[in-house]
Amino acid sequence: MSVVPDVALTNGVSIPQLGFGVFQIPPEETRDAVLTAFEVGYRHIDTAEMYGNERGVGEALRASGLTREEVFVTSKLNNGYHRRDDVLRAADQSLADLGVDQMDMFLIHWPLPTIDVDYVETWKAMIEVYRAGKARAIGVSNFQVPHLQRLLDETDHVPAVNQIEVHPYLTNESVRAFGAQHGIATEAWSPIAQGLVLGDPVLVEIAERVGRTPAQVTLRWHLQRGDIVFPKSVTRSRVEENFALFDFELGDAEMSALGALNRDQRTGPDPDTFARVPA
Ligand code: NDP
Repeated sequence: MSVVPDVALTNGVSIPQLGFGVFQIPPEETRDAVLTAFEVGYRHIDTAEMYGNERGVGEALRASGLTREEVFVTSKLNNGYHRRDDVLRAADQSLADLGVDQMDMFLIHWPLPTIDVDYVETWKAMIEVYRAGKARAIGVSNFQVPHLQRLLDETDHVPAVNQIEVHPYLTNESVRAFGAQHGIATEAWSPIAQGLVLGDPVLVEIAERVGRTPAQVTLRWHLQRGDIVFPKSVTRSRVEENFALFDFELGDAEMSALGALNRDQRTGPDPDTFARVPA
């Protein structure tokens, strides 16, 4: 039994609440980084076509000795593939690159609300991918409340998750609350804001008080809020540190103090305007 709790998604599929993200891990280093994560105990990997390292994730899966059922694998539809036929092709390509018959989760990476393909059409194609059994669950990433609302109004399939930027400097409450209201689990990307929050004096003081590192306190804060996280690290000691979250708890005062650090500060693009598609 893993120490990591599962989160039950609306369609009955369970996802480990703590996983390992591979954004910005070079393709040739991905296999070893993921194998290290498996050794430490992670059983949930978050990748994307955009990261260029799905093959490395697949190599690690095969080299690990773990069964396919033991690992939860998420990938994401890249921005250039929002048209229906491209969605179907991209899903097949991700399956081939990962070397699996089925993804556990497949997400629309960005809504791209300003491009000439409507994300509702893209979502309908994602539903086809789901119904064809190519993903056990489907969801979205970087969707704002109006984007989610349109999917609820115009299709018959609720996204299982919405993967959005969340950390103490961007608590993203309204999008999280909308998700909670509609059974859409929140996945918090860049959970330590790529390191930006770690020197914050409030966080450092709490970390000293509870005898943990600032990264551990931040990740624990996410878990206690109920969000799913997958910190990235290519440094073994940090991969271990980020997994050691299940033998301490933050009190209400500490939870509130971290939440009060919010300054609506994004480290990544604004989903309402982001429109970059690969050439
Ligand atoms: P994170 O918030 O996970 O931070 C990663 C950075 O922090 C790396 O530079 C890492 O360094 C460093 N780090 C990790 N652990 C520690 C620690 N314990 N102490 C100090 N520094 C540490 O950023 P990411 O942007 O990678 O986000 C996590 C995952 O979220 C991604 O890998 C990806 O799967 C997903 N994501 C999704 C996005 C989306 O649009 N859907 C966008 C961005 C991320 P080092 O590796 O050198 O050890």
